Amino acid sequence: METRLKNEQRVLSRRKKGGSNWHKQKLRVARLHEKVSNQRKDFLHKLSRQLAEAWEAVVVEDLNMKAMSQALSLGKATMDNGNGLFRTFLGYKLAERGKRLVRIDKWFPSSKRCGSCGKINKTLTLKERVWVCEGCGSIHQRDENAAGNIRVEGLSLLGLA
Ligand SMILES: [Zn+2]
Repeated sequence: METRLKNEQRVLSRRKKGGSNWHKQKLRVARLHEKVSNQRKDFLHKLSRQLAEAWEAVVVEDLNMKAMSQALSLGKATMDNGNGLFRTFLGYKLAERGKRLVRIDKWFPSSKRCGSCGKINKTLTLKERVWVCEGCGSIHQRDENAAGNIRVEGLSLLGLA
């Protein structure tokens, strides 16, 4: 769809501005834009509904929807404008079912904290996908360790741990 949209936009740019073919093409681009937008919304509705039905609470890092959308492979275009929407959908769908969306502070060291002993890895960079804790020797897969920390923090905020 993104490719089709790009192609139609290229065609539009070649049309004489204000001419009847330009108007026709402009309408075609606008319709395609709407279609892409609707597909994206449908997908976000479906995904957020599945999560809201499956879980009693969903814990997210505040202002870290970028990482979340990457994890869900939503792609660049969605990252640009779908993140806030996704969180909004998820929030109200959970609320409708009497469930909770828990936000964790963006400064919470989810990646850098060792999920086993709690020691903070101050030198961890974004590139390091696997790391070894200096405190306890645990080997961590970056995202799994972070997800585990977020889970524990969320449970604590919910008063469940
Ligand atoms: Zn450790």
